[in-house]
Amino acid sequence: MTADARARLPSIDRLLGSPEAEALIASHGRPLTLEALRVALDGLRAKPPKDSADPAALALGDAAARLARLARPSQRRVFTLTGTVLHTNLGRALLPEEAIEAVAAAMREPSNLEYEVSSGRRGERDSHIVSWLTRFSGAEAATVVNNNAAAVLLVLNTLAKGKEAVVSRGELVEIGGAFRIPDVMARAGAKLVEIGTTNRTHLRDYEQAIGDRTALLMKVHTSNYRIDGFTASVAARDIAPVAKARGLPLVEDLGSGTLVDLKPYGLPHEPTVAESVAAGADLVTFSGDKLLGGPQAGMIVGRADLIARINRNPLKRALRLDKMRLAALEAVLRLYADPEKLRRRLPTIRHLARPKAEIEALAVRLLPAVAAAFAAHATVTLAECASQIGSGAMPVEDLPSAGLKFSPSSGGADRLAKRLRDLPIPVIGRIAEDAVILDLRCLEDEAAFLAQLRP
Ligand SMILES: *Cc1c(COP(=O)(O)O)cnc(C)c1O
Repeated sequence: MTADARARLPSIDRLLGSPEAEALIASHGRPLTLEALRVALDGLRAKPPKDSADPAALALGDAAARLARLARPSQRRVFTLTGTVLHTNLGRALLPEEAIEAVAAAMREPSNLEYEVSSGRRGERDSHIVSWLTRFSGAEAATVVNNNAAAVLLVLNTLAKGKEAVVSRGELVEIGGAFRIPDVMARAGAKLVEIGTTNRTHLRDYEQAIGDRTALLMKVHTSNYRIDGFTASVAARDIAPVAKARGLPLVEDLGSGTLVDLKPYGLPHEPTVAESVAAGADLVTFSGDKLLGGPQAGMIVGRADLIARINRNPLKRALRLDKMRLAALEAVLRLYADPEKLRRRLPTIRHLARPKAEIEALAVRLLPAVAAAFAAHATVTLAECASQIGSGAMPVEDLPSAGLKFSPSSGGADRLAKRLRDLPIPVIGRIAEDAVILDLRCLEDEAAFLAQLRP
């Protein structure tokens, strides 16, 4: 850099005294503004501007852009139009307004989180949700922790530490993101005893595996895959009598789990928690933010004596829920008391049960504006698509849906997908056959979607 060019750069003090910098300080604070201006000046020093340019204006503009990026929340809203309703990377279940209000109230003011108002004594934080869970599951008792992975870890650590847990080879699943049953077993301090083969496990396999060191028998929902063909597995209802005769608990990890039969909502049958309890499982674990449609949580329901042991495990304290999630969970569980309300109010059920005709009508309404907005980059047409429930529930069942297909005029589907993600509220679709597909099943805020397409 020449001495001349350097001389043209404004001093940091001169920049700070400008009205533009004052405005930046007012919205972003002095330390961040100072930092952004220093970085901008360093940039100009490294790459001097053209003689015609005003270096002060360049530095202030660069700092303003930098500060605007910093001010934007890192976790922000997106449109999830991938066709997967419960998408782990996009936050899984959306919460109903009832839960959102309950969370806000729990954050804003003190509450009786662990306090019995009637007696003035210390209370139990789980008490706010236990009666709902026992009511809907038919179980004697319930407890709740951070997520279902934690629920499985806690159950195994409490009941099978230093002992053996028997699981079918056909159920040694890996759930996305490093949750593998054998690894969780090891971390819990339990020894895994694998029985049967990948495709076939029989009741006699369970009977023969039981020995002096056996602590429990376990069934795991094979959430994200299905084995077809020459297969055999043993239902909980058939294992339960064997477990009972030997005085061993039968534990079932239901994965997604659902509190209600989804058939009346036009969905395929998924085993309910109550069915598992009725079949004789002594403990059942399931997620809060999969089909249940609530906050991230891991529910454990079952025999009162086993739940009491789990609650005494110091790990329970490390894995407990905070007041916000308990407030959200309580509000969501209350909705389950009224199936009609549930369909209208719970976003997960509302999205899963949304009729194809309604989604199609939405696609037809959106098409002209979307096609016009993308005319320079793609041909947009109506598309038939198939949504997935996601998060391991019914992995091979599709829900007929409708959407928009963007066929790129040039540059490929990746560029087009990026263009959609670069909108103020990123639109996340899916790429198939060199086109971008937006499945409209989960689009409810039509106005916000359209508003950001206008130039
Ligand atoms: C999803 C799943 C888990 C993990 O549940 P999280 O709530 O995500 O921790 C565990 N087991 C099975 C069978 C699952 O499907």
